[in-house]
Amino acid sequence: MKPFHHLYGPVPSRRLGRSLGIDLVPHKICTYDCIYCQIGKTTQKTLVRKEYVPVMEVIEEVERFLKEETSSIDYFSLSGSGEPTLHSKIRSVIEGIKEITSIPIAVITNGSLLYLEEVRQDLLYADVVLPSLDAVSSDAFLKINRPDEGLSAERMVEGLVQFRKIYKGQIWLEILFCRGINDHQDELIRMKEAINRIKPDQIHINTVVRPPSERWAVPLSQKEIEKIKNIFGDKASIISEFDRPPFSLTEGNIKEEILKILRRRPLSLNDLSEGMGIPTEELERHIQPLILKGSIEVRSFGESVFYEVVKEIQISRP
Ligand code: SF4
Repeated sequence: MKPFHHLYGPVPSRRLGRSLGIDLVPHKICTYDCIYCQIGKTTQKTLVRKEYVPVMEVIEEVERFLKEETSSIDYFSLSGSGEPTLHSKIRSVIEGIKEITSIPIAVITNGSLLYLEEVRQDLLYADVVLPSLDAVSSDAFLKINRPDEGLSAERMVEGLVQFRKIYKGQIWLEILFCRGINDHQDELIRMKEAINRIKPDQIHINTVVRPPSERWAVPLSQKEIEKIKNIFGDKASIISEFDRPPFSLTEGNIKEEILKILRRRPLSLNDLSEGMGIPTEELERHIQPLILKGSIEVRSFGESVFYEVVKEIQISRP
């Protein structure tokens, strides 16, 4: 099977089940440089929208994936290693995929560009949009998201409010809390007011659960997160753990698949196991040689151990 350049996964997603990721911008081109980002520091912070990867290449890969893959997926998710709405033809990507499959399309975005009418129009064709809202006050916004200087918290919230007015699909708002940054009482009250205006269908509360870009981005405790969930009411949920039946993966491409998934973000053994549908003991058997070869690095965060890719290697198939 020829490798895919713009697709990755299926990956385990706590919100979308098993989703096939589509990367619309090269690694870490983003409008933000979040302190909790699990894929590292932003290398190009920008507001410039352009066709970062050719639409036709993406559609051809999706077509090929649908022909070659036997495992089932729940969503195509436009996300990846940067901000997907920076792609100026994201609408053509969504429309192109819809012409060839009925699998729903999710857009995972930081929501920063929704203040632009053209971006709001582009996302109208997605089935579900998952924007972030980590802060409402300017101070917390600058601290946690470290946005491009052309952005402001006010503008970002207003963009979400305007998008809700025209978008008929589902909006699942994610709020990620870092201790001492966006968890103050005042911030929570202002967030609740903003949420009342945005009217999301669901609110997903999260904290730092994977190795962050900045080591000082500290998670909240389960108890603190639960308290916040109660403040936000019935639509709020703490993002729950992935729990799906396994899908089949041939022995020959397990290592390749592990590297492909870890290239996008660090994952724990359990994350990988759940996403790939392979028992942890068996996965360890494949991971250990990759650690010994120096292809995968082990990193501790909190009480968990995560694996991340450190360099590319050629996998010889048996
Ligand atoms: S978490 Fe998302 S929005 Fe924040 S820097 Fe990383 S890719 Fe960009």
